Amino acid sequence: MNEAAHLQIFKLSHFQIDFMSVLIFVDQLDGHIKKSSHEALSYGAKIAGQTGDVAEAVVLGAVNEDLAALGQHGVKKVHHVQHDNLKNIDAQVYAKVIADVAQQTGATVVVFSNNSSGKTLAPRVAVRLKAGLVAGANALPDTSNGFSVRKAVFSGKAFANVAITTAIKVISLNVNAYTIVAGEGTAEVTPFNATVDAPKTKVTGSTKTSGKVALTEADVVVSAGRGLKGPENWKMVEELADELGAALACSRPVADAHWRPHNEHVGQTGVAIAPNLYIAVGISGAIQHLAGVNRSKTIVVINKDAEAPFFKAADYGIVGDAFDIIPKFTEAVKKVRGK
Ligand SMILES: Cc1cc2nc3c(=O)[nH]c(=O)nc-3n(C[C@H](O)[C@H](O)[C@H](O)COP(=O)(O)OP(=O)(O)OC[C@H]3O[C@@H](n4cnc5c(N)ncnc54)[C@H](O)[C@@H]3O)c2cc1C
Repeated sequence: MNEAAHLQIFKLSHFQIDFMSVLIFVDQLDGHIKKSSHEALSYGAKIAGQTGDVAEAVVLGAVNEDLAALGQHGVKKVHHVQHDNLKNIDAQVYAKVIADVAQQTGATVVVFSNNSSGKTLAPRVAVRLKAGLVAGANALPDTSNGFSVRKAVFSGKAFANVAITTAIKVISLNVNAYTIVAGEGTAEVTPFNATVDAPKTKVTGSTKTSGKVALTEADVVVSAGRGLKGPENWKMVEELADELGAALACSRPVADAHWRPHNEHVGQTGVAIAPNLYIAVGISGAIQHLAGVNRSKTIVVINKDAEAPFFKAADYGIVGDAFDIIPKFTEAVKKVRGK
């Protein structure tokens, strides 16, 4: 290799080092940025601080919010890709665009929230970037000796520290696993011209779930099980949830029996959630149920059977009949709220 070629290679690698970034995918619904994306942004910005890279974000499609304000989480730049083909989330189309942005911005780490979008996008982006992936990270990576990320395994019974050895790393962060950090700061918003393929699938209609608060984004969740005896008894649970500004959830047999819709079913085969407060009413606490809720920060269990397994996982427990306790609980919340 001659000297000129050497010089060129040196310059190229120097150029790449200058522009290395941690790229965070910002997920939105109906033009509004999801809370879980604010967590991912805060998390990604912290990683950039650890690795000495710049935190940047990528937003796909039209958004009704001020993207410059994402700078409050520590991102310096927002790459905004707008195209008619991005109207509905299509995993293949989105993954190609995100990988393209990652490559062109020299991203060494790509961060997603491990929400429904992140679960479909992160593996596809990882394949395109030939990157190692940790899905469902619970903590910041340990960069003291390589790059390893902690995640829960065996339905939350253990943790694994997974080392990623590829040049580019992809991480999807569990929802509610990292506290949103918001300070001062404005990000530079730049349009990003990407080739956006036409989706191979066509969305012919969509139905919104009935819940007032989205289950996966909720801070407080009130959940009920077979102990409520039938769908007609959900009114009292709904009232409590309304007073607490909580989302509703249920155990699997409740959804299987069509007492509640399946999008409320939490657990191993349902939605996995990690709210700050999970109130379980008339749910036994089977391992398959716990697998989806055991990352909740505080668990309150109301069950008439003092031996119900759920009490072992609870921070607070009330042994008693839900039909007595829930109306009293709702009244007490109203009183505290001055109603
Ligand atoms: C492969 C597999 C996957 C599964 N996935 C899931 C999953 O994702 N999510 C899930 O939830 N389950 C799942 N299950 C089912 C799980 O094993 C349990 O059967 C289920 O969670 C039990 O639901 P439950 O607690 O509502 O009902 P039950 O087990 O019938 O418990 C009802 C509870 O209510 C209490 N109770 C009764 N009356 C009252 C009252 N008046 N006041 C207060 N308490 C009362 C009882 O003491 C009891 O503890 C799965 C099972 C399998 C095999």
